[in-house]
Amino acid sequence: MLSRVLSIEELKKIPEWDILVIGGGATGLGIAVDAAQRGFKTLLVEKNDFAKGTSSRSTKLVHGGVRYLAQGNIKLVVEALRERGYLLANAPHLTRVQHFIIPAYGYFQKWYYGIGLLLYDLLSNRLSLGKPSLLGKNKVLKLLSGISGKGLKGGVMYTDGQFDDARLAISLGLTAADLGATLLNYMAVVELLKKDGKIAGAKLTDELTATTYEVKSKVVINATGVFVDSILDMDDTASPAAVMPSQGVHVVVSKDFFPGEQALMIPKTRDGRVLFAVPWQGAVVIGTTDTPLDQISEEPSALDEEIDFILDHFNQYSQKKIARADVLSVFAGLRPLVKTSNTGSTAFASRDHTILVSPSNLITITGGKWTTYRKMAKDAVNNAAFVAKLPIVKCRTRKLRLHGYDPQIKYGEPLSAYGSDAIQIRKLMEEHPDWGSKLHPHHDHVKAEVIWAVRMEMAMQLEDVLARRLRILFIDAAAAIAVAPEVASLMALELGKSAEWEEEQVGTFVEVAKGYLP
Ligand SMILES: Cc1cc2nc3c(=O)[nH]c(=O)nc-3n(C[C@H](O)[C@H](O)[C@H](O)COP(=O)(O)OP(=O)(O)OC[C@H]3O[C@@H](n4cnc5c(N)ncnc54)[C@H](O)[C@@H]3O)c2cc1C
Repeated sequence: MLSRVLSIEELKKIPEWDILVIGGGATGLGIAVDAAQRGFKTLLVEKNDFAKGTSSRSTKLVHGGVRYLAQGNIKLVVEALRERGYLLANAPHLTRVQHFIIPAYGYFQKWYYGIGLLLYDLLSNRLSLGKPSLLGKNKVLKLLSGISGKGLKGGVMYTDGQFDDARLAISLGLTAADLGATLLNYMAVVELLKKDGKIAGAKLTDELTATTYEVKSKVVINATGVFVDSILDMDDTASPAAVMPSQGVHVVVSKDFFPGEQALMIPKTRDGRVLFAVPWQGAVVIGTTDTPLDQISEEPSALDEEIDFILDHFNQYSQKKIARADVLSVFAGLRPLVKTSNTGSTAFASRDHTILVSPSNLITITGGKWTTYRKMAKDAVNNAAFVAKLPIVKCRTRKLRLHGYDPQIKYGEPLSAYGSDAIQIRKLMEEHPDWGSKLHPHHDHVKAEVIWAVRMEMAMQLEDVLARRLRILFIDAAAAIAVAPEVASLMALELGKSAEWEEEQVGTFVEVAKGYLP
């Protein structure tokens, strides 16, 4: 269970933590799981909601990265393929196997991709999800219904993984809490505290009440994604920038434009990237772009040209053309790419992760991928334990079943994202039949999920429920706006909030949600 009230009590009670983690995205949450499992007294603080940053805005692929193979980054691909296998095994309720098809418009292309993908599969070794297969034109047209057959010579089908990113983040948070870690959303680090030049803790501000706290910790890990430089700055204003942010946009459309269960992979866009169209939660997610940015924000927004770029590319392959008005949701995320002296396109920048240990003993981890969060956490905690002279304990997360683990549950079915917790949600629906009713006629979510999110998953604001506990904002922004008043009212009852709170929540949410409408 994630409870803010209990976590604040802990915060006040514990005189010194072993590890303080700043940032509640994939990286920070993975670190909290690893550190807690090793028995370290762990506190994680997140300035917004868990996964509010990049970790809810990915392409939702658990993958080795076919693209990185083409770039020759074998080490990254092997590592990610290994992690793909572990994640699919440890969180079957939040992940699934996904087939992808690359359409080929020349026979050379077909063999070229076929051989590349055979190598990709060989690199996954014992964790292979199945060999790629060469497909004839008719088979491609049958499997990728909706695709245009003009000039098509066939294609190659290969297998990777797919997941629900924000729900995996919540599952990691719950796993960390099950293992004894203390986690708080809406708690920002505003200052680092030092003793004899070494980091000894941090000053925190509760973003919901403006209360401040000072916490002591033997070591502090900066896992703030694209924001790592602001924490590095708190440590030493002269520290050089560690990340170069790059924006990636996705559009979500109805499955009418791309029916079927297979995903499309377009191997080469104008800027030398790949573009995916992947079935997800009853809709199709298409993306992404790679736009270097100078300024970063907590709520990044898609540029018009990014949306056009995605629609132009997809429409070249599809029979039914998508117009802007058909888009159900648009979301943008920021890649925390490791800064290099290379000033060229960020499309070719490394997706590897990096750990920096500052002279003050601040540990900073950045870069990487969602898929490799577990390995990143292991490396970060190894470094932190060494710096803080914590007892040597081996990482044991490789076979750790994540919260909700239940191999019987099929990802994608109603309530599957909660794994074994779905039983409790069904119980709520039995006890209060009204909570069993749907929030919106086009979506499966029921009212009991809102109650559960508030009671058990630390949902504090309307956006936490509509964007990350349920994914409705990412799937259908207009539907999210339509259900906002009812969800706010359910939350207000649970949280003991006033009618003014409800109104203010709806107003703030609608402003954010407008950014998801094209
Ligand atoms: C467009 C796009 C598509 C992607 N697709 C995939 C994919 O399909 N598969 C894959 O494996 N990877 C993918 N990735 C990569 C993956 O999403 C990221 O590597 C990962 O989410 C980064 O997580 P993070 O925890 O480092 O950062 P974040 O998720 O951004 O978390 C950092 C957190 O730190 C918090 N924070 C900042 N300052 C403070 C402070 N002062 N105090 C407390 N908290 C603070 C922020 O609020 C934020 O929540 C994609 C990335 C992008 C951008």
